[in-house]
Amino acid sequence: MSAPEMTAMALRRPRTPLAAERRPLPRPDSGELLLEVEACGVCRTDLHVVDGELEHPKLPIVPGHEIVGRVMEIGAGVTGFAIGERVGVPWLGHTCGACPYCASGHENLCDDPLFTGYTRDGGYATHTVADASYCFLLPREGDAATLAPLLCAGLIGWRSLKMTGEARNVGVYGFGAAAHIIAQVAIARGRRIFAFVRPGDERARDFALSLGAVWAGGSDEAPPETLDAAIIFAPVGALVPRALSALRKGGIVVCGGIHMSDIPSFPYSLLWEERRIASVANLTRDDAREFLALARQLGVDAHVVRYPLAAANEALADLREGRLQGAAVLLP
Ligand SMILES: [Zn+2]
Ligand SMILES: [Zn+2]
Repeated sequence: MSAPEMTAMALRRPRTPLAAERRPLPRPDSGELLLEVEACGVCRTDLHVVDGELEHPKLPIVPGHEIVGRVMEIGAGVTGFAIGERVGVPWLGHTCGACPYCASGHENLCDDPLFTGYTRDGGYATHTVADASYCFLLPREGDAATLAPLLCAGLIGWRSLKMTGEARNVGVYGFGAAAHIIAQVAIARGRRIFAFVRPGDERARDFALSLGAVWAGGSDEAPPETLDAAIIFAPVGALVPRALSALRKGGIVVCGGIHMSDIPSFPYSLLWEERRIASVANLTRDDAREFLALARQLGVDAHVVRYPLAAANEALADLREGRLQGAAVLLP
């Protein structure tokens, strides 16, 4: 009998297509879970890894950090999980637990972290191994594909939204996976969403309005009302001064992506009057617990475009070209 195997779509070198690889099925080490992947979301960060915009990935790397899987085998010392249970694996794959950030409740900024699909193998695969301490139980029933985007698009969106404090008029630049999820949460919490899409993208504009945005227009347009806060998900630095110019005094621009083109210089008057620019980095496990419970309670509905695992390169290309409505998800 031959040893059990798995299939993964692996990146051997940045700026080359992912290649299908057969690998021996791994065994979970102590503290780990072996998962059978049910679905894995495709995030813009995967694109930054594949395109070589994030430095020093583990190579070869299996991308994917929006993993929904079933527990297949449990490593030594793991408690709280049973075989067959459904779990989610996010971007934050491991933290050191000892650095000043970990010690002060800012594990998202850990000095010695591992990130799923970047510095440890992720979910563009039939199976994956994850650190059980960074896995989250998910509802056993329901469509795995619509849960997957919650694990990064949703989580990072949530951390970004929290940074806007009590803002009522919230501008969202780039209406993709994260925006369409967090708009639902924000609207349910009484916020008014102003959606900024690629100029001329009527489908994206209609999509934002269908989800309850009070206004949607091109990212080159000014909103009809002053914004209390803006969240930028599009990786376009030029949007930072544009968003600042739409803000009221004391407002905040939150940059929700891990990579952005350079921010052009702008007059100090745009920042003056206590406007702020902030970035969101990674997530904490508390963010995940909080958001996954909230998404369930609110019945957040992720719009997904499904691809077979073998079509990972096509999914990435569609995301790169802005052809997607909602979130791309790979199904092994
Ligand atoms: Zn740490
Ligand atoms: Zn992501």
